[in-house]
Amino acid sequence: MTQSATSPVPATVVIYSGGMDSFTVLHRALREGLAVHALSFDYGQRHARELEVAAHVCRELDVPHQVVDIRAIHGLIDNSALTDASRDMPDGDYASDNLSATVVPNRNMILLSMAIAKAVNIGAGRVDYGAHGGDHVLYPDCRPEFVERMNAVAGIANFEPVRIHAPYLGSTKADILADGLAMGLDYSDTWTCYLGEELACGRCGSCRERLAAFTANGATDPLGYLQRPDTAATAQRPEAGYLQRPDATATSTRSDTDAPESREAPDV
Ligand SMILES: [Zn+2]
Repeated sequence: MTQSATSPVPATVVIYSGGMDSFTVLHRALREGLAVHALSFDYGQRHARELEVAAHVCRELDVPHQVVDIRAIHGLIDNSALTDASRDMPDGDYASDNLSATVVPNRNMILLSMAIAKAVNIGAGRVDYGAHGGDHVLYPDCRPEFVERMNAVAGIANFEPVRIHAPYLGSTKADILADGLAMGLDYSDTWTCYLGEELACGRCGSCRERLAAFTANGATDPLGYLQRPDTAATAQRPEAGYLQRPDATATSTRSDTDAPESREAPDV
């Protein structure tokens, strides 16, 4: 019913940051056979690495990709280390108190609101985004009650109801990665580090959570890191070696997959 004449197959708008969660969500939607429209936001991130990776992936997949420049609202959301380059990026585990500095005010409500508009605009009945259980503690707008209420609003805000689909709402980062690896996805096509250097830093909460997810899956992150939390893997690695089969890495380079200590992402 939400399908338009311009959209021969059911369509969805995927909020795609270029990070590993939304990368996996994007691929899931494609495997469902949906016409995927990827939507990224330039909200004044400290760096453009994620957006560059997102554009590259969409080109490769031949997925329509739109980057919405919302820097005009930067003044509303700049009280965060993610959007204010003058602030230090806290190191350490993702859920620790200092990481609250990385919360962008009202981020997902802003982004979902625009994605819903896009969905209505093109006759897509769904918006996908990559909220997951590991983010519940730090980011209220990744919690089930938020998604539930936004879903209710998305159903009545327009004459064309839009459903918000967050397939990993109850999953950890490791679960998402497991799903992606099972799909054969190449995670060198993602960027997670809060910093935008040539190599991922390996120290910020985002890097640590990502590395822990790989460790939990017995796999090696194909990304190059400036420094991995364990001593065995601190040697410089070549920039993002493109790997055909992520599971092949698990066997070929398993020796540098130890540590960080497997930290279960907080669930619910
Ligand atoms: Zn990092």
